[in-house]
Amino acid sequence: MSTKFKTSLKILETYVKHRHYTPRYKTRAQLKAYQNRKLLIHIAWAMENSLFYKKYFQRFSRNPLDLLQMWEQIPPINKQVMMENFDTLNTKGLKQEEVFSHTLKAEVAREKAAKLNGSIVGLSTGTSGRRGIFVVSDEEHAAYVGYVLARVRQNSIFRKNRVAVFLRSDNLLYQAPVSSHFQYLFFNTFDDPSSWKESLQSFNPTVIIAPPTVLAVLGEMLKAQKLSVRPNEIVSVGEVLEPESRAELEQIFGLMVHQYYQCTEGILGLSCLEGKIHLSEDIIRFDREIVQVADIKHGRAFIPILSDFTRKSLPLLRYRLDDILILSEKPCSCGSPFLALERIVGREADLFYFLDFKNMHKPIFGDVLVRIATRCGFELRVLKIEQTTLNSLLVSVENLLSESQKLEITQLWRQYFDERNLVFPKIDWEMNQNRQSHLTKKYRRIVSSLSLGQDAQIE
Ligand SMILES: [Zn+2]
Repeated sequence: MSTKFKTSLKILETYVKHRHYTPRYKTRAQLKAYQNRKLLIHIAWAMENSLFYKKYFQRFSRNPLDLLQMWEQIPPINKQVMMENFDTLNTKGLKQEEVFSHTLKAEVAREKAAKLNGSIVGLSTGTSGRRGIFVVSDEEHAAYVGYVLARVRQNSIFRKNRVAVFLRSDNLLYQAPVSSHFQYLFFNTFDDPSSWKESLQSFNPTVIIAPPTVLAVLGEMLKAQKLSVRPNEIVSVGEVLEPESRAELEQIFGLMVHQYYQCTEGILGLSCLEGKIHLSEDIIRFDREIVQVADIKHGRAFIPILSDFTRKSLPLLRYRLDDILILSEKPCSCGSPFLALERIVGREADLFYFLDFKNMHKPIFGDVLVRIATRCGFELRVLKIEQTTLNSLLVSVENLLSESQKLEITQLWRQYFDERNLVFPKIDWEMNQNRQSHLTKKYRRIVSSLSLGQDAQIE
């Protein structure tokens, strides 16, 4: 069988499986039982094929069933542990050093996919500066594409699609075009937006997949009639999509903006037709490390610990991310048994801490401040809020604000702090900032540069 044929078959198989044969788990209980069955097989497989997991799990038990029963008690690993043990963790005989030199060479040549030992390998850029490695076999890659197509309901595998993808060259899903029904055109976000225009116009995409900052730039080009494309699907990836940016984009494009929640570790969630992101619980078990944050009911904010029961090249089991997610309060009206998210807040490192009047550190989500600020009675484009110290914030906005406008926003924030008995920080403003200058970086609206000492008391 040719590789191309095998790939197409795998895409189709995964597509049909996830699109048409899901009634096995209509309820949460059925889903849990399904996950447990899959995970049990995968734990046994990983212990046989990944030296790292064999050693790691044997500290607790040699029996996969025992391991599954104590699953939540097994200490999670993180990216650092994964990278330190990469050579024994992956099952393709890859060495970290090889992957790095191979990928860096491909990056310099600006090639899209780098293959090593028959697997697609690459490095993620990551916001923390630490680069992670991804390894995906052809089969996993095809399954990945089939899965996304199955979960995105308005797209059909049987229709021709032209997909414009904007990325910083670290995204595994679109590394290699795999289906004749899907034509891909890649745009590098490092390039100047004006250079996209011509090829985007002649390609005339039916689907645009891009980070929200890029979507905003495209939206502005559309509004200014510098571009006249009419996609039937818009997907936001790679960065947190703020509710107000979403509303704005939906208005400009006249379409619902979909979201893929994905990272180097895979596709973790996709939005449904109600616009809610549902976790990919049919391929990953998500355990939750609960986080206490102001204004969020206990149990709803959490850090996900993934156990992917489909990945084999680089198995990830009990793998802790550093994202913070917030569960939706009510089940989604679309009827999916997969957990729905209220929102993805961002990285754990981006929680803000302020002092209360007893000198205790209180965590709050920085994005709350963005949301409060937008209640002001004028147009405001917040680009970034950075906590610089326990008592100071640096706020970058795209427009120019008068003194009275700054005061109005400050008062809205002050009220929030007063209601929670928190010491109000000093606010510094950076105005008239250029949104496009953010395109080349992984854009983060909420940034904490704060380092809390070991003696910090957090309540
Ligand atoms: Zn839903």
